[in-house]
Formats: sequence, C-alpha cells, structure tokens
Amino acid sequence: MQELKQMWEKVLSKIESMVSIVAYELWIQPITPLDYRDKLILGANSVTAKKQLIKNHAKELKECIDSVFGNGTEYEILDPDETNEYLKKNKPDENQAVTNETNDEDKFMFNSKYTFDNFIVGKSNQFCYAAARAVAENPGYKLNPLFIYGGVGLGKTHLLHAIGNYIKQNNPKLKIQYVTCEKFTNDYIESLGTNKEKGTVKGTAEFREKYRNLDVLMVDDIQFISKRTSTQEEFFHTFNDLYQQNKQIIISSDRPPKEIETLEERLRSRFASGLIQDIQCPDYETRVAILRKKAQLERYFIDDEVIEFIAEKVDTNIREMEGLLSKVYFFATLLGKKSAGIEEAKEAFKEQLDVQKEKLTPENIIDTVCSYYNVEYSEITGKKKSKEIVEPRMIAIYLISDMLDIPLITIGKLFGGRDHTTIIHSRDKITELMKHDHKTKTIVNDIRKQIGEKC
Ligand code: ADP
Ligand code: MG
Repeated sequence: MQELKQMWEKVLSKIESMVSIVAYELWIQPITPLDYRDKLILGANSVTAKKQLIKNHAKELKECIDSVFGNGTEYEILDPDETNEYLKKNKPDENQAVTNETNDEDKFMFNSKYTFDNFIVGKSNQFCYAAARAVAENPGYKLNPLFIYGGVGLGKTHLLHAIGNYIKQNNPKLKIQYVTCEKFTNDYIESLGTNKEKGTVKGTAEFREKYRNLDVLMVDDIQFISKRTSTQEEFFHTFNDLYQQNKQIIISSDRPPKEIETLEERLRSRFASGLIQDIQCPDYETRVAILRKKAQLERYFIDDEVIEFIAEKVDTNIREMEGLLSKVYFFATLLGKKSAGIEEAKEAFKEQLDVQKEKLTPENIIDTVCSYYNVEYSEITGKKKSKEIVEPRMIAIYLISDMLDIPLITIGKLFGGRDHTTIIHSRDKITELMKHDHKTKTIVNDIRKQIGEKC
C-alpha cells in the first residue's frame, strides 16, 4: 500500500504542472488512491469532482498514470458514495486509504509564494519594499525596529514572509520567528497556564526561550495587542531583550503606532525609535501588474480585458482583487473553458456584490459591535442604561442607520422597541462626536472595518 501511495505522489507531481492550480487543488489533489489490483481505483472527493475529472482532465490523468503505472493502465474514478460501496465490498485493511499528512508548522512558517520576486513594486509600496529588502539583506543592522503599516490586504504579510523566505535562503543559520500578534498573546497566556499546572515557572521559561533567542522576530498585526498589561509587559521585555542584542524586530499593523488605542506609551515610543513606513493603496497600473503576476503564478488563462475589469472594480484591497480573479477562473473552469473572459468576470462580480449585500444585516452589525465591546446582544438591545452598554448601543444604532437603508422605526424595534426619536438622538450624537472626538472616530472606523471584513 505504501507503494501505491508513493506511486500516486509521482502522478500528482507530474500532473500538477499540466493543469491550473484551481483544478489541481479542487479536484486532483484530494483524490485518494484506493486500490491497485485489477485496475487503479481512485476516490474523488465529490460527485462534481468526479464529473470534472472525467470531463476535463481525463487526458492529463491518463498520460500521467500511464507514465507511472505503465502504458495502458486502466483506472476508474469513484464518487464518495461509490467509494464507500467499494470499500465495503473489498474490505481493504484500515491503512490502505491514503490520507493527507499534516504539515509541520515550522517547516511551513513562510508561504513560498510570498517572495520579493512576486511582489510588484509601485509608487504605493516602493519605500516599504525597499525597507523590507534592506532588513532582509542586513538584519539587525539599521532600520530596527521596522514598523510597516497600511490597510487590509495591501501586502504587509506578504512582505514579512518575503523577508523570512529571503533570510531562510541566504542566511539559513539565523533563527527567525514569524507570529501574528494573536499567536504571541496565546503562546504567552498558554505559558502562564503551564506554570499553574506544573506549579513552577516552566511555561514562561519555555516561552522566553522561544522568543528571546532569536535573530529576527516578526509580529504581524500588532493592532490586535490586548490591553492586558501582562501581555504588553512581556512583549516590552521581549522587545528590549532582542533590541539590545541588535536583533531585528519587524512589526506590522493596519495603522501607525499612535493610533493603536490599546498600545502602551512605552511600546509606542520604542517603535518610534526605528523606521515607521506606510504602505498605500496601489494605483491602477500597479493593480493591473499585480493581477497579471497572480494569474501567471496560478497559471490562469485570463483575458486582459478581465484583468482590467477587476482592477477598475476593486481599488483598495489586493486580497479582494485576487479573490475575484480566482472566482472568475473558477467559473470558467466549471464551464469547462480553457480561458476566462469578461462574461465570467461580470458574473463573479455580481455574485460577490450579492453575497456582500446578503451578509450586511442589522443583526450582523450588532454582533460585530458586541464582540468589539465584549457585551451581550441581549444587553445592547435591552434596557440597561450603564455607560458600558449605552456607548456600544449608540454606535450600533449609528452604524446601522449609516450603512443600511432601513426605516428608523424598524431600527427602534431591533433595539427593544425604542422610539424613533431615541434612534435619531443616538445617531446624531455619534455623528457629532465623530467630527471632533478622535477616540469615537477610531472606534467607529475599526468596527466598520471589521464589518467589512466579515461581510
Ligand atoms: P495584508 O497583510 O496587508 O492584509 P497581504 O500581505 O495578506 O495583505 O496581501 C494580500 C494579498 O495581496 C496577498 O495574496 C499578497 O500576495 C497580495 N499582494 C499584496 N501586495 C502585493 C504586491 N505589491 N504584489 C503582489 N501581490 C501583492
Ligand atoms: Mg496581513
């Protein structure tokens, strides 16, 4: 059986370069080789997958199977129901089915696609790119810490991984750790738990061993740093320890340090001691170049017209642009077309808008506000008048009336049957505060962004 698994892997490695990445990931990679006695039996992961494989990829499958298993090898593809039937009848031993092995976290710390070579440089990101490259070439030398900030989907994580990939390749002895702020926090909290379990400080010692013996530490999305003083304290000491040893620290955030409400002043001033560099929204030409690169990397055949269409429709988030591109290609693949055209692009764009509209509901807005403030849905829509509840309630009302076109009376009903004048009062109060109160403005914008990401 081991042998079948190895042979099938050879087939996969051959076929991977012959079909698009979408087709490979959706239909081919999930295939399970089940048996190879009379003929090769393959299990597809869905009925659609089976149909797609037979209709669109029979030629490539035959060619690769022939070259690995021998010319004229017969094969059959089963859908999941048929696979179950087959396995019942043939009772192969438990180890026969090939399962995907799990990945080793460290080995895959850096996404191999996020390299400097794959990063398109334009006016919007040239300084960030140059700084990231300089740091990758000479970590800990200058530009320390490097603080990169910019909106969602503009390439911050890509640049961090590019630094990691570059160092791994050119300076493999250096110890690098890439973590999201969330992971750093969880690791730390977990280490405290381990202390309790073992009644010692072993957990924290391990944590420090992991984070303070590094040559390069990257923390992604630092804006999520919690207000918990102990986490900030630990981060502060980690930072100082590394910094004093001239070790490189790289941080990313969706906003500059001075706008991260939860960040302690002493950390803010530490960040200011290095380079703070922003990354902006790409212009049209850069967007087109990014899409071309992406299409080339994913081996999509896409008309230029489609690339231009997407670059015009989406202008603030590259991830969204890429999402639309792969959706267009996916549509074309489903239709069995070799190349995606403007019709698929229009269809995919329409579908995306519909999905967004469907998801943007008052309930979703209230939910997002609740999780931001850590309050209950029933509290925010209930009668409580304490400050901790009134503020999120007014903000939820403001956001609903601003983002959705629904009558004030309906909004009142959502909030426990409140009168429409109360709704108007809340809405106007926040509108007013937004004009001159920095804190309210930041909070509202943060929540709005979270709603946008969810919907
Ligand atoms: P962020 O971390 O800023 O939210 P990411 O780094 O995750 O954004 O980027 C989102 C997507 O856009 C990724 O797939 C990334 O490869 C791509 N991307 C962003 N900027 C560029 C660029 N300049 N060139 C090529 N791809 C880019
Ligand atoms: Mg990111």
